Amino acid sequence: MNNRYKILVVEDEANIRNFVMTLLEANDYQAIGASSCREAQLMFLSHRPDLVILDLGLPDLDGTTFLKEIRKESNTPVIVLSARSDETDKVYALDIGANDYVTKPFGSAEFVARVRSALRSTQLSGSNANLPGGKFESDGLMIVYDSRQVLIDGVEIKLTQTEYNILALLSKHPGKVLTYSFIIKSIWGYDDYGSTKKLQVNMANIRKKFGAKPGKKNYIFNELGVGYRMCEPNEA
Ligand code: CA
Repeated sequence: MNNRYKILVVEDEANIRNFVMTLLEANDYQAIGASSCREAQLMFLSHRPDLVILDLGLPDLDGTTFLKEIRKESNTPVIVLSARSDETDKVYALDIGANDYVTKPFGSAEFVARVRSALRSTQLSGSNANLPGGKFESDGLMIVYDSRQVLIDGVEIKLTQTEYNILALLSKHPGKVLTYSFIIKSIWGYDDYGSTKKLQVNMANIRKKFGAKPGKKNYIFNELGVGYRMCEPNEA
């Protein structure tokens, strides 16, 4: 009986695929590989992996085609591998359901941290955020959803309705990059010219109220040109 997480690595470049698979095995995950979209589809159905690492540039079909198929039937976390030139593809992949992305070339430690976080996010998706008494807690930050209160080290931070809504949304998807467009549509219901600016202004205000300073704990990470990511909650 094998209880290790099974991870499907879809990448056509053999050296990158082997590097990723070796890295995963070294960290006690079980890695299986596919070098094309078609092969990945078959592997996904027969192996039911716990996580998929997906290169977007595949020889037969675009990786996003496979991602859409996965999302039709499951919440299996997907981390997209993209080249630096694929900025638009990366945002598109997040918008259609990728949990995270890693830009090539990437470091081993960062990659393994993303894998761990994506696997944890599926366990957290059934978390208590929407239940009565639901809270988010991470390193001194506490969000109390019922009363819409935000505290840092026990001191209440006064946020506007919009600022609170943005923070609550991010905290309900900890560790996951939410794209500008996803946040904007969730908060304002529409995405028009100037929306990104509006979001950035609100985020700047939240950070200011949080007292974000170099060297201080950052609760919200800015993924430049893509979106924002909330830190992970403390282990319960
Ligand atoms: Ca490729």
